[in-house]
Amino acid sequence: MHSEIAVLPGDGIGPEVTAAAIKVLRKVADRHGHDLVFNEYDIGGIAIDRHGEPLPAATLAGCQRADAVLLGAVGGPKWSDPNAKVRPEQGLLALRKGLGLFANLRPVRPHPAALNASPIKPHLLTGVDILVVRELTGGIYFGDKTRDADSASDLCRYTVEEIERVVRSSFRLARQRRGFVASVDKANVLETSRLWRDVTSRIAREEFPDVRLEHVLVDSMAMHLLSKPREFDVIVTENMFGDILTDEASMLAGSLGLLPSASLGDGKRGLYEPIHGSAPDIAGKGIANPYATILSCAMLLRHSLGWEDEAACIERAVDAALNAQAFTNDLAPGGRGISTTAAAEAVIAQLEEHCYVADLRD
Ligand code: NAD
Repeated sequence: MHSEIAVLPGDGIGPEVTAAAIKVLRKVADRHGHDLVFNEYDIGGIAIDRHGEPLPAATLAGCQRADAVLLGAVGGPKWSDPNAKVRPEQGLLALRKGLGLFANLRPVRPHPAALNASPIKPHLLTGVDILVVRELTGGIYFGDKTRDADSASDLCRYTVEEIERVVRSSFRLARQRRGFVASVDKANVLETSRLWRDVTSRIAREEFPDVRLEHVLVDSMAMHLLSKPREFDVIVTENMFGDILTDEASMLAGSLGLLPSASLGDGKRGLYEPIHGSAPDIAGKGIANPYATILSCAMLLRHSLGWEDEAACIERAVDAALNAQAFTNDLAPGGRGISTTAAAEAVIAQLEEHCYVADLRD
């Protein structure tokens, strides 16, 4: 039986990093005797150019049929007019909705070989291993908006069900990790945060008594993420706080090019993508860092296909490639790094040299 992956390369460096990551996926699948089928579809700017819309029906249908979706990035200067009727990022929002995805997972694990790429002092980063879970469907981004000549408003709304499902996901994930959830809100000011805190406390008490829960105000968390990041395991929060905190947390890892993400719903199907954008400034040059996309593929194997060994194998190979200083420009001192393809080849070489031996020993 085969597993099907819908591939949406998108714009800018998207096609370069997805092509590199697929090479790694093919290698891992071959080695473990799995049959993976890749079907490519348009999304974002390229879909606007070719089909007049950022998420063509064939793309959504292909993703809904697939076991998992791998996305590069969308957007770029060509489609950046804020007054345009159709914009690339609408494709991404519609895709998340169409697939029923509500939890965005962003692991942040600064790599020992890349600590100097972070603006944070290395001694604060050693041993940091955080999973931020951001709610994706509710909150102020989706509430009613008003605007008149001298005022504007955005409504922040959450339902109990929206909070329950993302909080449950984060407790389940904490159980597979170090068993600690920090729930972030602004309960001293916001009513939606007070509801968030009540629901989270109830779920912890009734369903996850084995997981430690701490409530942290978002302003404190903004500080703690930089001053004591090692103390956190899973951090769960609402949509806008998560948007801001995940960008802050990304600085712990030094480069946007190292951070993967997954967006999950109730079932196994998920959307996997690097957290960076389409990087128009380096697109087409073959120098983009593919590690975030390769690590997103590891998340895909783990969460959507249930291939834990294969996922861990990719993660070990990326670690080994970084230990061997296989740095793209964004990581290399002086910006003299290797190409996107060479970085993917470095991971593949490490798969052969390390992971398979480790697999046999296991
Ligand atoms: P960006 O992440 O594309 O780039 C920011 C900086 O990081 C640039 O200097 C870029 O060269 C560098 N960078 C990013 N990824 C890299 C990689 N893999 N390797 C090496 N360097 C990398 O953010 P931006 O410049 O603010 O946005 C560019 C476009 O991407 C915009 O159109 C934006 O809307 C879009 N965007 C898309 C997504 C997405 O598809 N999920 C996310 C963010 C931004």
